[in-house]
Amino acid sequence: MLVSLTPSPFHADCTFCDIIKGETQSCKILETTLTTSFLDIHPLSEGHIQIVPKRHADRMHELPDMYLMDVMLVAKRIALAMGLESYDILQRNGSLIYQQVPHVHYHLVPKPKPRQGLRVGWPKNYVPMEELKGVANAIRDKLYQESLCAAMKSSSL
Ligand SMILES: [Zn+2]
Repeated sequence: MLVSLTPSPFHADCTFCDIIKGETQSCKILETTLTTSFLDIHPLSEGHIQIVPKRHADRMHELPDMYLMDVMLVAKRIALAMGLESYDILQRNGSLIYQQVPHVHYHLVPKPKPRQGLRVGWPKNYVPMEELKGVANAIRDKLYQESLCAAMKSSSL
């Protein structure tokens, strides 16, 4: 019996993992060792592309950094090749915001005309500057604590 020493980067019940493995048909655009991309089957505009890391993770922060960097490089190459002037890059995390496929993916949606492509409602909330400063301080405190924990973990190795 053979036993794999490295865990599979794929999930057994995931549409995007099946596309990466070639078990589900797709119209591939560009592929690297870490990333694949293919046309969205329900496009918001012509050339709407899914850019997908070749490792299963439900949410963006669960992926190793190298996958995140490669995804953005692929997005840039595609946008340049397509000569896009206006486009959205959309990435969602979690079931509360309608992430349909629980495998990290980025939508590259060309916006050739105002009524084509992604349309987003963006309700503005007006918050006093002092309240914004409090929120910023709380986030920075969490980042500082996270940095201390990372430093302590690396020093104990
Ligand atoms: Zn997957």
